[in-house]
Amino acid sequence: MTEPKTYCGPPVELPLRLERDPAPAEGCAGCAELVQVRDRARAGGDWTTVSDCNIFLRRHPEGH
Ligand SMILES: [Zn+2]
Repeated sequence: MTEPKTYCGPPVELPLRLERDPAPAEGCAGCAELVQVRDRARAGGDWTTVSDCNIFLRRHPEGH
């Protein structure tokens, strides 16, 4: 007798394209720089970098 195995992996996180850009925290040099990098990346069509910057901006409360 073999038991069917079920694989319960972690939920897959899909990037939300219509998500609003996170705002930089006031007075945070790291956030200010991320916004500049993000704007430049967006102008150049580098969406990977744009999304990376947004992830870091959201992580501001955890530090960056
Ligand atoms: Zn910050």
